[in-house]
Parts: sequence; C-alpha cells; structure tokens
Amino acid sequence: MASCPKGQKRNESEDGQGAQGDDSSIHRQKDMEAGNSGPTINSLNWLGMRFELITIFPEFFAGPLDHGIVRRARESGLVEVQVQDLREFTKDRHRTVDDRPFGGGEGMVLKPEPLFEAVESLLGHDVGDATKKNEVDSKTAIVLMSAAGKLFNQETARKFAQLERIIFICGRYEGVDERVAEHLATDEISIGDFVLSGGELPAMMIVDAVTRLLPGALGNEASSQNESFSARGDLGTDPGHQAEMTGHQILDFPHYTRPAEYRGWCVPEVLIGGNHAGVAKWRRFAALEKTRRNRPDLLLRE
Ligand code: SAH
Repeated sequence: MASCPKGQKRNESEDGQGAQGDDSSIHRQKDMEAGNSGPTINSLNWLGMRFELITIFPEFFAGPLDHGIVRRARESGLVEVQVQDLREFTKDRHRTVDDRPFGGGEGMVLKPEPLFEAVESLLGHDVGDATKKNEVDSKTAIVLMSAAGKLFNQETARKFAQLERIIFICGRYEGVDERVAEHLATDEISIGDFVLSGGELPAMMIVDAVTRLLPGALGNEASSQNESFSARGDLGTDPGHQAEMTGHQILDFPHYTRPAEYRGWCVPEVLIGGNHAGVAKWRRFAALEKTRRNRPDLLLRE
C-alpha cells in the first residue's frame, strides 16, 4: 500500500480534530445542517421568497421539502412553500385535468382551464384573455416545467433568487396545452436534455437551487459565491492562464476531509500544511483542471 508523505500523517495524528484553518468550514456546514448557526431572517431584513407548486401529485414534495437547507429555510421563514393540488380546480365529478390531443397521437395533455384558474387563484387576480392580458407583478415568475423549455442553469437560479414569488406548473403525461406556455407562464424551463415523467422533480430542483442562494440560507454567505458555475476571474492571477480564464465559469475545486490517508490514497499535501496561499493556489489549479476534464465546454464559452 502506498503511504502518504510523513507530514500528512503526523498532522492528522497530532490533531485528532483535523487541520485548522479552512477545515472550520466543514463544521460550519454541519452546524448549518443541524440548524445551529447562520444569520436569521430578522437580522438580514429579508422579505423572503414564496414558492408555489401546482401539481396533480401534492404528496410528491413531502420528502424533498423536509430535509437540509430547504427545510431550515422554511422553518426560519426565509422561504414559504405552498403545494397546490391541480384537481381542486376541476369542475367535473371525475376531477379531470387532462384530455386527448387535438390532431391525434399518443397520450394525454393537461387542459388549460384548471391550470389558468389555479394560477389566478394563487395570484389573487385574473390574467386576462386574448382580448386583454393582465400583467403579472414583475417580482413574480410563473414557471412552466417543460422538456422543451429554456435550459436552467446557475445564472437562471441567481435571477430567480431576486424575485419574491415563483409559481411552478408541473406537467405530466404528454405535457401541457401550449396556451399555458404562450399566455400564462412567464418562463418555460427545462432542467436538462432528457425527458422525465413529470415536472415535480424539475420544479423541486429549482426550489433547491434558488433557496440556497437566498441570503442566510446557507448560514455562510461565502459558500454560495465560491462554488461551481460562479464566475471566478481570480483564476487569472496565475500569469499562464490570465487571458484564458478571465470571466469564465468553472467548477468547484475538489474537497477533502479526514482521514488524510484512506486505503493508501492521500490528500494533497499542500492542503494539510496550513499554508493558506499555497492552498488557494492549489485550489485554483485543481478547479481549472477538473473543469478541463469534466466540462471543457465551460472554458470555450464566450
Ligand atoms: N412530450 C414532452 C414530454 C412530456 S414529459 C416532450 O417531449 O417534450 C411530462 C412533463 O414532465 C412535462 O410536461 C414537464 O412538466 C416535465 N418534464 C419532463 N422532462 C423535463 C425536463 N427536462 N425539464 C423540465 N420538465 C420536464
């Protein structure tokens, strides 16, 4: 079995709690998950964000909303979540939300009426019709989840995090009557180039990505500024990469925790010695190297 450089092992055995310095962020993260730290909603004077999810499967969200950062954000009042059963806006005995597609073909399509009425009920006003459209508050987004939508990314998450309210429409079956995309939704969003069976998971992913960007949600402001897909011009401080890296989005640097040696695989030595400048330099290069390996497309973007 390969063995790690001496310094690494010594450091770990001398200090049962692991290295100091940057390691403290590990403990902050744990505290945060346990709800023990971080600014409170009052200290930030933050108005909060309201998420509303329109779905035919309201129970779907029970698990994802009840864990980790999203749960803590709900408990602290940073976000408020309402799950709206679409079937409450049906008028027939069978509570029908779907119908056959005009023009023929496979599957069923979600009808427009319950969706328009569900959104209007949440908004508290009607959105109008073909003769007169009523605008929606600019701090509100009505997001239709759709494999045919615009691709969601961290930039969209940051844009959404500026809003006060997001209403998600979760499709099912073959999808949703196109008039919903054209005349009700403010955004039609896909979470990736693949087709899922419903919009609930995609909507939940956006709730999660946006929540962790809200001030105070992570309990450590720095942690959402210095992660994958944040533009990091500071990579350019290395002379060899200055021009190449400025303004590009790159992935997060690799993280390590104890033990310093595991099955003969060692943590990079520079991370253990307490040389902060050395650590910062290693992280910049490691992030860049990982981006080249896993997401070279990010480096090619203008
Ligand atoms: N016929 C559609 C797929 C319908 S899948 C098509 O080919 O584009 C049923 C529902 O799942 C959609 O209405 C949408 O709400 C959701 N969905 C599926 N894939 C998605 C994706 N990549 N991003 C966001 N929502 C998706």
